Amino acid sequence: MEEVIDYGQVTGLVHSTESFGSVDGPGIRFIVFMQGCKMRCQYCHNPDTWAMKNDKAKKRTASDVLAEALRYRGFWGADGGITVSGGEATLQIDFVTALFTLAKEKGIHTTLDTCALTFQETPEYLAKYDKLMAVTDLVLLDIKEINPAQHKIVTGHSNETILACAKYLSKIGKPVWIRHVLVPGLTDRDDDLKGLGDFVKENLTNVERFEVLPYHTMGEFKWRELGIKYPLEGVKPPTKARVQNAKDLMQTETYTEYLDRVRG
Ligand code: SF4
Repeated sequence: MEEVIDYGQVTGLVHSTESFGSVDGPGIRFIVFMQGCKMRCQYCHNPDTWAMKNDKAKKRTASDVLAEALRYRGFWGADGGITVSGGEATLQIDFVTALFTLAKEKGIHTTLDTCALTFQETPEYLAKYDKLMAVTDLVLLDIKEINPAQHKIVTGHSNETILACAKYLSKIGKPVWIRHVLVPGLTDRDDDLKGLGDFVKENLTNVERFEVLPYHTMGEFKWRELGIKYPLEGVKPPTKARVQNAKDLMQTETYTEYLDRVRG
């Protein structure tokens, strides 16, 4: 007999929430930032989410978080909804699945923002992941570097599982937005940008948006507060010309262009 899960009572360690997110998925969204991440991106603007435990993070039930989100439903319009981000949300996959299951019961659009480091193609992991995907409308997947050696420099980890996840999401036809943070001197090398564009073009058929996110320094103060040396000290955001160069090499297209293409 299949186990009956009381999704409302599943708990997760939540770092914080944001009531009116406008960049992490379509429309206006309620954003849930989960605690814990195993990547160490040099440009991370949420280093306070890294630790798997943090006194400021709260253990909350899925029903409690949903109730908070629902207070803002009137602002979501036709496109908005709930995004779970981090940290890395899939480290608490049971909680995200529970929250999204409850959200879908109420007809809410659900978006998962993930770095996909945890992804595994084992039957056990895929059983859990598929359950999450069944209640996820959109995945925001960051590909931080296509070059494995450079990816290790940028994040401290290989990109093997991330690229495998990208291909898996394409295989199951899950809509994704692929995002690449452009950091001068780190993730803006021409060969790698071209390689990322080629990877997306050759392997993925599910990409709704392919975006360049220009690096910004807004999270720098958090590193200082945590007493960690900021590795990108002195690095400025990319120029407009470098952003355009990245778009050209990655062969990105705007969402409008994408809609024109798919709608003929
Ligand atoms: S994956 Fe996200 S939260 Fe984790 S270190 Fe990188 S930017 Fe920060």
